[in-house]
Amino acid sequence: LTEPNLLLAVDGVTVDFDGFKALNGFSLTIDKGSLRVVIGPNGAGKSTLCDTIIGRVRATNGRVVFKGEEITYLPEFEIVRRGVCRKFQTPGVLPTLTVLDNLMIAGQKDRSWRRSFGLRQAPEEKEKIEKILETVGLTDRSHILAGELAHGEKQWLEIGMVVATDAELLLLDEPTAGMGPKETSKTADLIRGLGGQHAVLVIDHDMSFIEQLNGRVTVMHQGQFLKEGSVAEIRKDPDVAAVYLGR
Ligand code: ADP
Ligand code: MG
Repeated sequence: LTEPNLLLAVDGVTVDFDGFKALNGFSLTIDKGSLRVVIGPNGAGKSTLCDTIIGRVRATNGRVVFKGEEITYLPEFEIVRRGVCRKFQTPGVLPTLTVLDNLMIAGQKDRSWRRSFGLRQAPEEKEKIEKILETVGLTDRSHILAGELAHGEKQWLEIGMVVATDAELLLLDEPTAGMGPKETSKTADLIRGLGGQHAVLVIDHDMSFIEQLNGRVTVMHQGQFLKEGSVAEIRKDPDVAAVYLGR
């Protein structure tokens, strides 16, 4: 677990909720700047995997290593400080602030957002935020209150907020939840555009989205590793089909 290109290693992690193993000896590695998609039927343990990486849920066995250091038992804020950032299944934008302010606050180096709120930004910060606005396709919407955005736009804003933190590892849990096909395509483009600069772990179960993302896919089932491969390999895999159709 010390290869220079390795960013994250989840190593044999079990999460036991009073006898129920949401994760059961699960392992996964993510290289720097790479895109990884994790899929699996409802209840497979995908969100628990994210929760465990970010330190919200505790592994009862195994370990999580980020940039060569074990983070398994660190508090969430410390894991975030080290460069992991998570977007939740439901968008968590600040509705009474503009799109621009949401991004600026998310990008504050000092994470005590409320204290620093209202401070003017350095020019290089402004440039960075403008680039993110472009990446997430919200340049024209930058002065709109976040609460007035359409559902898809809120999701894109939240992806932008995760990007603004400069985290090396972005965890996106169902970024296309509630989106139609057009918005889903746009989200796939956007996420592909993050590659190189950030490693991204995307959790989803929408097959057409996964095809458009075109990253390496890991399939989970009942808290365990089932398969790993390209989208094409996963798509024609009989075990994967059985798991999906068997529910
Ligand atoms: P997914 O995101 O793949 O749909 P989850 O990780 O949310 O799956 O959940 C995996 C399993 O663990 C589910 O059966 C869920 O009910 C269970 N689970 C998740 N969180 C808890 C918890 N805090 N306490 C008990 N069981 C939980
Ligand atoms: Mg989930």
